[in-house]
Amino acid sequence: MKYVLVTGGVVSGLGKGVTASSIGVVLKACGLRVTSIKIDPYLNTDAGTMSPFEHGEVFVLDDGGEVDLDLGNYERFLDVRLTRDNNITTGKIYQSVLEKERRGDYLGKTVQVVPHITDAIRNWIESVSAIPVDGEEGPADVCVIELGGTTSFSGDIESMPFIEALRQLLFSVGPNDFCLIHVSLIPVLGVVGEQKTKPTQHSVRELRALGLTPHFLACRSAEPLLENTRLKLSQFCHVPVDNILNIHDVPNIWHIPLLLRNQKAHDAILRHLDLLSVANPPNLQ
Ligand code: ADP
Repeated sequence: MKYVLVTGGVVSGLGKGVTASSIGVVLKACGLRVTSIKIDPYLNTDAGTMSPFEHGEVFVLDDGGEVDLDLGNYERFLDVRLTRDNNITTGKIYQSVLEKERRGDYLGKTVQVVPHITDAIRNWIESVSAIPVDGEEGPADVCVIELGGTTSFSGDIESMPFIEALRQLLFSVGPNDFCLIHVSLIPVLGVVGEQKTKPTQHSVRELRALGLTPHFLACRSAEPLLENTRLKLSQFCHVPVDNILNIHDVPNIWHIPLLLRNQKAHDAILRHLDLLSVANPPNLQ
């Protein structure tokens, strides 16, 4: 199993969900089987009890699971049928660990965030990613994991156990089986009129301090990234220039897989994951 982790920095609502789904579409168009997991670091067990005004639509899966609307994007973009277990929340993880604790599974042990919560997250990801969701037999080739919220210590404390679990997962599977794509914002200041890379530099630095180095940047901007901005991002964020993807504003989110294909994102991701020899050129209309 190969994992593609999508994280987000700088601000929320950047388009991590759409980016993760679109990456899945491009990989699927190369002939790979793709599944997905969405991580929501809130304490609610699921999205069913949350206000749609605050959180957006609650998406109901075939198994009755009430989940984040991003799972709707995954189902529509990838033509898969997900289950409630494809949406991990802090509430579900703690519930499973506390049930085990009450059953006496950890008897004699002090139950802690590290290693018990982080192990539960890793086990959940490894077992759910192996479940086929496309109607075929056997596990998919690639699991796209979206980590909700933003990855910064000053921001989402609740993301930390997930980041630690994902860091351990990367370490155990190795870099050829794990690709980290960090979605970040490149704003333009009105008066200066220049694409600013500093927020992304800070966000990457924070992620690296947490033990995760992005292999790719997916830069959200109003207008296409200038070559000079890409070079600067590459140099200061320690990401090869071919791995700097640009997802500028488009009138319709269905353009985003095409945007990625035109930038040859599939080539760079497949090369990173050592899948070039088994994949086909993308078949996207
Ligand atoms: P996140 O997962 O980071 O919270 P979403 O994927 O839910 O963000 O996207 C937030 C909103 O931004 C959605 O309404 C989505 O359609 C829109 N969006 C994302 N990417 C783009 C883009 N490149 N151009 C225009 N709108 C976009």
